[in-house]
Amino acid sequence: MTRTSVLNQIHLLLPPKDSSKSTEFNLRLRDQDCLSLLKRCKSMEEFKQVHAQMLKLGLHCDSFCSNNLVASCALSNWGSMDYACSIFRQIEDPDTFVFNTMIRGHAKDASFEEAFLLYYEMFDRGIEPDNFTYPALLKACARRRALEKGMQIHGHIFKLGLEVDVFVQNSLISMYGKCGKIELACDVFELMDQKTVASWSAIIGAHASLGLWCECLMLFGEMNREGCWRAEESILVSVLSACTRLGSFDLGRCTHGSLLRNISGINVIVETSLLDMYVKSGCLEKGLSIFQNMAKKNQFSYTVMISGLAMHGRSREALKVFSEMLEEGMVPDDVVYVGVLSACSHAGLVKEGLQCFDRMKYEHGIDPTSQHYGCLVDLMGQAGMLNEASELINSMPIEPNDVVWRSLLSACKVHHNLALGEIAAKNLGQLKSQNPSDYVILSNMYARAQRWEDVARIRTEMVDKGIEQKPGCSLVEVKRKVHKFVSQDMSHPQCHGIHEMIHQMEWQLKFEGYSPDTSQVLLKADEEEKRERLKAHSQKLAIAFALIHTSWGSPIRIARNLRMCSDCHTYTKYISMIYEREITVRDRYRFHHFKNGTCSCSDYW
Ligand code: ZN
Ligand code: ZN
Repeated sequence: MTRTSVLNQIHLLLPPKDSSKSTEFNLRLRDQDCLSLLKRCKSMEEFKQVHAQMLKLGLHCDSFCSNNLVASCALSNWGSMDYACSIFRQIEDPDTFVFNTMIRGHAKDASFEEAFLLYYEMFDRGIEPDNFTYPALLKACARRRALEKGMQIHGHIFKLGLEVDVFVQNSLISMYGKCGKIELACDVFELMDQKTVASWSAIIGAHASLGLWCECLMLFGEMNREGCWRAEESILVSVLSACTRLGSFDLGRCTHGSLLRNISGINVIVETSLLDMYVKSGCLEKGLSIFQNMAKKNQFSYTVMISGLAMHGRSREALKVFSEMLEEGMVPDDVVYVGVLSACSHAGLVKEGLQCFDRMKYEHGIDPTSQHYGCLVDLMGQAGMLNEASELINSMPIEPNDVVWRSLLSACKVHHNLALGEIAAKNLGQLKSQNPSDYVILSNMYARAQRWEDVARIRTEMVDKGIEQKPGCSLVEVKRKVHKFVSQDMSHPQCHGIHEMIHQMEWQLKFEGYSPDTSQVLLKADEEEKRERLKAHSQKLAIAFALIHTSWGSPIRIARNLRMCSDCHTYTKYISMIYEREITVRDRYRFHHFKNGTCSCSDYW
């Protein structure tokens, strides 16, 4: 609406010269006009004009008009809280509605103190808060992570008997969730008589924000069972993140379907979570097609795509997407550069990596963090440039942290440099790192060098420090259920069938020329025992289970916690050929796509 048309509208507000209608009718008519005029304002300038006309007409004394004036000034995107305050202060007898509006406005502006001052003023003036007062206050508490204040407000709500109001309950759940008090959020949720989509969204979001992914999916299932099918965007984003973290790809794909059915026009945040889900579930192609068809991409979408390509070993393409991002005029931040540098390190692109590092420092003015140095040490170390990597660490302008030393340690393991590995481990020890894998790597390096006394020393040190080694585990999804397998653990209910399958697989493998690489078992044990242990690596159990329970030719997706050993790598390559299955394995750092007896990493990992 143009300025002139607003003024024309105001013209219509003027009282007709020879009105035969009753004043009351006129006033009501003007009330409605006033509201529709305010709704059309697009800037403070227009608003001030409407306000001036209303003052002239004396409409500001009408509480309906003054309340709406305050509301549009306080809550509109173009509004101004200062101006809203000045109108508010001229109202002689403000009611609950206008107080609520002002509190909401302050909460929206993140003015925590002002919102609470007004709330206390309500009590001073004897104006009773209602169910619309509290959601804004609770939202302000959530933003500030002000748990104590939030609990105090909860007390007031209880006293006023408003704890049964669904809006108030939903806000309480979100507040407790944001403040990290998930039990309290659950208490409120369970006591609800009537749960709305917003209630489910609040409780699922609360679990997601704390990384409680299994609970997220359980709640989502419960929500569906209770017949609440119309999930909103925020729920689906939480569910997608949960699927991504848990490797539950089938459910993720269903969620995508549900999004397409129920929500028109998916926004960039949801699209980016979908992209993240597909890429991290091993479906890089699907992720790429989503990325290419996105109407709008932000910094985060580019970051997800670049790190995704890096994880899949498609480093050249990652660098291409990075160039596209720069061409689009986006300014890269430190997070994007972590993706770019790790892309280089996954493919051994040493020259490109060093160039990117310089570009980050000099062209984009980003001071490298330990994470960037970690990537660079990884890049050089994996490529066998251990001395250069070590020199880089010594020349760092910031104190090297555990990430940096850990990168050196893993490189030393790959290239069997025990002397340098010991230095890296010593530095990790001085940093009081409690990461069990650091100890395990060093101990494995000693075992490989047959230095059993040192192996024993490391094990004792771990026990003394109370550091427990995490067992290797693999997750595999079969018929929308995620099954977990732990190395050497035969407690799965179908362990008998799995055993038989492993036995059968072994026959086929032998026939094709596979022989187990027992040097991967770093224990002082005889060959036979080593072979038995190798057979029970979690990845092999997961593959056997998936082969039994999925139809011929369907792909197998595995997510694992630790880096796989080279025997599992060879084994899986053979299985992909013998059973004609595409097998995707994701560890914490990257993906391996096994197909027809080869792996996408070309054995560089
Ligand atoms: Zn293994
Ligand atoms: Zn591989």
